[in-house]
Amino acid sequence: MNSNDIKTVKALLNTPKSIVVVPHKNPDGDAMGSTLALCKYLNSQGHTAVVIAPNEYPHFLKWLPGHDDVITYNSSTPIATQKIENADLIFTLDFNDLSRTGGEMEKVLAAATADFIMIDHHQQPSNYAVVTYSDTSMSSTCEMVYHFLDALQVADHIDADMASCLYTGIMTDTGSFRFPSTTAKTHEVIAKLITAGADNANIHRNIYDTNSYTKLQLLGVALKNLRILPEYKTAYITLSQKELDDHKFQKGDTEGFVNYGLSLKGIIFAVIFIENKADAIIKMSLRSKGDFSVNEFSRSHYEGGGHTNAAGGKSDLSLEDTVAQFISILPRYKDKL
Ligand code: 5GP
Ligand code: MN
Repeated sequence: MNSNDIKTVKALLNTPKSIVVVPHKNPDGDAMGSTLALCKYLNSQGHTAVVIAPNEYPHFLKWLPGHDDVITYNSSTPIATQKIENADLIFTLDFNDLSRTGGEMEKVLAAATADFIMIDHHQQPSNYAVVTYSDTSMSSTCEMVYHFLDALQVADHIDADMASCLYTGIMTDTGSFRFPSTTAKTHEVIAKLITAGADNANIHRNIYDTNSYTKLQLLGVALKNLRILPEYKTAYITLSQKELDDHKFQKGDTEGFVNYGLSLKGIIFAVIFIENKADAIIKMSLRSKGDFSVNEFSRSHYEGGGHTNAAGGKSDLSLEDTVAQFISILPRYKDKL
């Protein structure tokens, strides 16, 4: 953050405010960890802050300190709308465009009279905030919230709860500290968070060792459905709505499945196609290694985006047609794959 932005933020937080903190739709560990940590800090300073998530978040995040107070827009629309309309200040975290909150909530946010502050590490941020703290080199929004508080000279206010939230988002967005976005600085922040009370071993267990039997069986199905296209160094997985239903699918159960495709020797591009009959879409997660930008690929073909090596998108075609269309696009990228 530059010094002007720091001044603006300090001025905005100088008097008690009604504040709403918003993660993206289908919030992940980084989105929930960053919003909950920031929300706790703001409340500790005399503000009245609340996290409003566009929709449900995965069960493996339902231990994060403060998660009980989260309002979900799609299940508590009237109260959520009222809070957004009455807010003095709205923080948007871990996303780069209001459309990432989904249809109706996007409209309410766009009409809000509050000042906006964006903290985010995705590419191509939109211009709606009075302060846009965007840094695409950052491992996670949680790492950025640490730097944000540090810039305000209040990093020593990070308590054990906030540290646990921030640790969680850094851990999940870096694939447990293995993606190239993990820097020496990331580890310095992690060290500070452990010192502040983040119980690292417990956090890993809470996130990664709370699988249900049916989730692991679903993983078995996903791995059986894995296909390889060696000429494009590409692997893809499909999961139909029936396969999800047969395994009592819960939100978050397929998180990380796409990485199995990328773990194959010689594969640099992996995709998972997940059928969602309720929304009549195929939700896609795309991952790559090296320079091949799944952000660009998803923006061009799947109304999505994200980062160079991790992006999401969707298709309105059937599962079968989506896969056929995907395969038909690949020859255009032969020189990049
Ligand atoms: P995932 O595949 O885990 O849902 O998302 C991977 C990354 O891409 C995350 O950083 C996520 O925020 C972003 N992402 C997921 N879906 C979309 C989308 O539809 N649009 C954009 N712009 N980003 C997305
Ligand atoms: Mn993130």
